[in-house]
Amino acid sequence: MHHVVILGGSYGGIAALRRVQINRDVRVTLVDHHPYHYLQTEGYELISGDTYFDKTIVNLSTLCANYENVTFRHSSVEHIDPETKSVHLSDGIEMYDTLIIALGSVTKRFQCDARVYNYSSGAKSLLGALKLNRFFQDELYKRLESARYAKENFNIIVRGAGLSAAEMRQRTSYVY
Ligand SMILES: Cc1cc2nc3c(=O)[nH]c(=O)nc-3n(C[C@H](O)[C@H](O)[C@H](O)COP(=O)(O)OP(=O)(O)OC[C@H]3O[C@@H](n4cnc5c(N)ncnc54)[C@H](O)[C@@H]3O)c2cc1C
Repeated sequence: MHHVVILGGSYGGIAALRRVQINRDVRVTLVDHHPYHYLQTEGYELISGDTYFDKTIVNLSTLCANYENVTFRHSSVEHIDPETKSVHLSDGIEMYDTLIIALGSVTKRFQCDARVYNYSSGAKSLLGALKLNRFFQDELYKRLESARYAKENFNIIVRGAGLSAAEMRQRTSYVY
């Protein structure tokens, strides 16, 4: 049976999966190093405490179980060998007839002060978004508990003025 391997279980990979699985003559393997699909589009809500954690993830095993010809493999992609049509994973090899690569992108950080760089945290990963969320919650808690902190202003400086910065500025000022 024709084997389609999809690397990356996010928006791109899942959209491809939904199309490909319609063909009953193929079997599909979806590979991702996370067991979940993190809904990046909910990232700002997650950071600002505007949505629940479990509303921002989709279980990939459960998703794949909806389709008879789809299997989920929780593993990390290390190397692709087009010669032998194989994908080398952290825990083995997956042979493919057709390969779909949907591994996403890496955020480009423009040159900036090292101190800013070291303190920055992205919303692109679930962990990054959760770290920011916890940071805000911890700061708020400190102010609630401590007379010293309560007297200080809680200033959030958003550096950058692109789409993400605008979204963060609006949401954090509303919630916090
Ligand atoms: C906070 C935020 C809000 C956004 N809001 C919007 C919006 O409102 N509208 C919009 O259109 N776009 C929005 N975007 C952009 C959108 O999320 C991205 O364009 C989209 O996620 C790209 O999808 P993708 O499938 O190509 O890659 P990704 O979503 O990055 O997925 C890549 C997948 O590959 C997996 N992966 C990566 N490396 C490996 C490896 N080595 N081995 C195994 N698996 C691996 C990852 O775990 C991930 O599941 C937003 C982005 C962010 C960060």
